[in-house]
Amino acid sequence: MAKRQMILSEFDIVFTTQRVVKGQTIADHLAENPREDDYQPLHTYFPDEEILFIGAVEDMSEQYLGWKLFFNGVPNSFGTGIGTVLVSPRKHYPAIAKLRFPCTNNMAQYETCIFGLKMALDMEIKDLIAFSDFDLLVHQTLKQWVTRDSKIMMYHCSLLSLASKFKNLELRHILHTRNAFTNALATLSSMIQHPDELVIEPIQIQLQDRPAHCLEMKRVSDVRPWYNDIKEFMKTGSYPPDADSVVKSFLCRLSSRFFLNGEVLHKKTSDLGLLRCINEEEADYMMKEVHIGVYGPHMNGHLLAKKIMRSGYFWLIIGHDCVNFVRKCIKCQMQGDVIRAPPTELHSMTAPWSCSMWRMDVIGSIDPSASNGHQFILVAIEYFTKWVEVASYKHVTKKVVSDFFEK
Ligand SMILES: [Zn+2]
Repeated sequence: MAKRQMILSEFDIVFTTQRVVKGQTIADHLAENPREDDYQPLHTYFPDEEILFIGAVEDMSEQYLGWKLFFNGVPNSFGTGIGTVLVSPRKHYPAIAKLRFPCTNNMAQYETCIFGLKMALDMEIKDLIAFSDFDLLVHQTLKQWVTRDSKIMMYHCSLLSLASKFKNLELRHILHTRNAFTNALATLSSMIQHPDELVIEPIQIQLQDRPAHCLEMKRVSDVRPWYNDIKEFMKTGSYPPDADSVVKSFLCRLSSRFFLNGEVLHKKTSDLGLLRCINEEEADYMMKEVHIGVYGPHMNGHLLAKKIMRSGYFWLIIGHDCVNFVRKCIKCQMQGDVIRAPPTELHSMTAPWSCSMWRMDVIGSIDPSASNGHQFILVAIEYFTKWVEVASYKHVTKKVVSDFFEK
């Protein structure tokens, strides 16, 4: 490179190394220097242009004033239901049936189409447009797609012979969402059990714009709050009617930890603070507000109890209630950390040599028991030497097992 620089310096030319050529530079270069013979227009032909006209077909289903047929078949876990609706400018004729033989989705669609067409023929309808959201059936019937399935061949032939009885029959594809009513009918018919003990009257479907009635229920507890006895004792000095001497002395001692201010009972804390005693309903509200409410950080049970007490409220089983409340919080369950650690510490067992291990088992209870009343047998086997230790016992308790091991 130095040699080249020396040669070029003679002509006042400065040699510089080639830098990295960025993609944009190439693009700019190509744009500035186009080649005529290289240009090819973008291929805009869409192979299945009919798809572009789905919207137009949907509009057709509303604009067309003659007879229209909508059909759908739904195989599900209850069975296979088929539903059709014949639509005239003045009236709708829904019809449903249930197929009581196993069939595939394709078969169900063909069954439904034939069912609908037969219904139309019975009503002496000769001009009809049938709408289905099932692409396969539409294209196969229009002979755009070939049918090779042996199960479908018979249906296909039957459908074509039925179609020939119409003066004018068109089959069109429709979006699934536009065919929701027949879908609902088919699902409904699939759920009906035949024969059913209940006589099914004609179903009338009504549309409701408003809820029928809203009943707001509120729980009203007529149970006295937990602090009622303490409050009564401090107020009037009276004990509950069924209290014995133990309860009376307990109440007496307990009341020394409380302070009554008018109608409001307070609990004295060790640092001479006062916590207002609240009843069950208020406690529920308090836990909800502190745990879930605005800025509720979904803290754990113990922290929740502490926070409520720091806010100046108290009830006797606050810790227990708070832990239970947090356990039932759905958000905590869904978003809390998954703790995979076992609840108790695991101890690894080491063996001085391989297979040096004891296996223990309990046999029993044996009925009838032995003459000395023993019903259980404890067996311990050493894996390596196959040494067996056996003893029988009346009951298997913790002490019995530990004694057996020591022996
Ligand atoms: Zn929570």
